[in-house]
Amino acid sequence: MQAIYWFRRDRRLADNEALLEASGNQLAVAFATEEFGKLLPNRAHSLLSSLQSLDAQLDNKLNLILENPAKAISDLATAYGVQTVFAARAYDTSGMLEQAEVAEALQQIGVALKLIGSYYVVTPGTVVKPDGSPYKVYTPFWRAWSQIDTPNPFPKPELKLMEPKVRDFPNIQANPTINIKAGEDYAAETLERFAQKVHQYESTRDLMAISGTSHLSHALAHGEIHPRTIINRLGTASEVFIKELCWREFYADVMFRNPHTLDDYYDDRFSQMEYDSGETADKSLQAWKDGATGYPIVDAAMRQLSSTGWMHNRARMITASFLIKDLHLEWQTGAEWFESQLTDFDPASNSHGWQWTAGCGTDASPYFRVFNPVLQGKKFDPEGNYIRKFVPELAHLDKKTIHEPWLAIDGYANGYAERIVDHAQEREETLRRFQELKNN
Ligand SMILES: Cc1cc2nc3c(=O)[nH]c(=O)nc-3n(C[C@H](O)[C@H](O)[C@H](O)COP(=O)(O)OP(=O)(O)OC[C@H]3O[C@@H](n4cnc5c(N)ncnc54)[C@H](O)[C@@H]3O)c2cc1C
Repeated sequence: MQAIYWFRRDRRLADNEALLEASGNQLAVAFATEEFGKLLPNRAHSLLSSLQSLDAQLDNKLNLILENPAKAISDLATAYGVQTVFAARAYDTSGMLEQAEVAEALQQIGVALKLIGSYYVVTPGTVVKPDGSPYKVYTPFWRAWSQIDTPNPFPKPELKLMEPKVRDFPNIQANPTINIKAGEDYAAETLERFAQKVHQYESTRDLMAISGTSHLSHALAHGEIHPRTIINRLGTASEVFIKELCWREFYADVMFRNPHTLDDYYDDRFSQMEYDSGETADKSLQAWKDGATGYPIVDAAMRQLSSTGWMHNRARMITASFLIKDLHLEWQTGAEWFESQLTDFDPASNSHGWQWTAGCGTDASPYFRVFNPVLQGKKFDPEGNYIRKFVPELAHLDKKTIHEPWLAIDGYANGYAERIVDHAQEREETLRRFQELKNN
């Protein structure tokens, strides 16, 4: 039989349950998106790199169609005359919608869409409390999730591929500062590199100036590796690390059950909170995006994001807290900017990472927790090397003053931005707004 395999966020051959299932057929392989024109350079570059690597793995037989997936995949099914399209099932809001649209378009021409497996170790929606209800807090979810055995990775299938019919690889302007290495082989190398230092993860993962984390988020977001493969390789070497992977699974579960939380409040009360808007808010937002808030650790992080397409987890929390609690903007504003820049953009982890920081998500951080950007910088970038790397205007300062250039005589000698807000005052303002919300 002939069939189509439709790749989405599972751009790999190994440990791909749906592809293995499809591989008994002669396959046309396809990827479809309308997004390229809308993506900013970091994202466009990383998606294209991922697709080029996948195409190389497929002997240059990938059909790449720059069109709405429902139209693209149904037209392709007609062109090849197949009865079945296979794909990995999506559990995120836009993915579920897209797959429903593709299924409907295929049904109209009498073709079946077979959705198999997921991008997760445990299928979203399956971890439940003894009474069958979903977990709303991470720790009990982790306890239940960690009791479930991780299956062995699925073997890489032998594929019988048909010649492609559409090869719309876009000619995009790459961001010259980002050095994206994509693809399944590179993901496997990244895992091997990390396996050698996983024992140091617990002690180094929060230090922003060093590479103490796995950097597997890019490969996971593009589906160039399955988390099952990661856990099988690392075994029980680091529970702390597996717990981080479980956050990804938890947020996927929460989003699957609450699709509106992609861009809406998990805790709806927070939509009633007082937020800033207007010209001053727009200027603050721009300074935050540009890495020009006058707070060194925030600016270093924001510049890491735009120049590399990745940001350290600690830095994501600091910058998110700054946008919400120092600038009083809604979390969606920041989440949108992250989405446009992060090469590891993941809808559930991004929206819920933001909502966690805002205090309106699951496991809400207590309302009175307002990250102090100076103290965070001193604690997690003690030598100031992270700041020095991304904010050259401050590179001349020593480790004591680099976090507080306003205390140094020559702090602004190289044109570094003045602080756009006073953290102590804005903290009080945030607490006032929270109190008001509680009283209503
Ligand atoms: C505001 C905010 C936005 C975020 N947006 C994203 C996003 O778009 N995409 C994304 O992959 N992660 C996101 N995260 C989570 C986390 O910052 C990144 O997963 C991590 O920095 C990626 O680097 P790493 O692979 O080296 O992480 P490691 O520390 O090596 O962790 C291993 C893997 O565990 C998962 N993970 C780790 N921490 C988290 C977490 N807090 N939530 C969910 N999964 C986690 C990721 O898949 C990660 O690759 C966000 C966090 C915050 C606070």
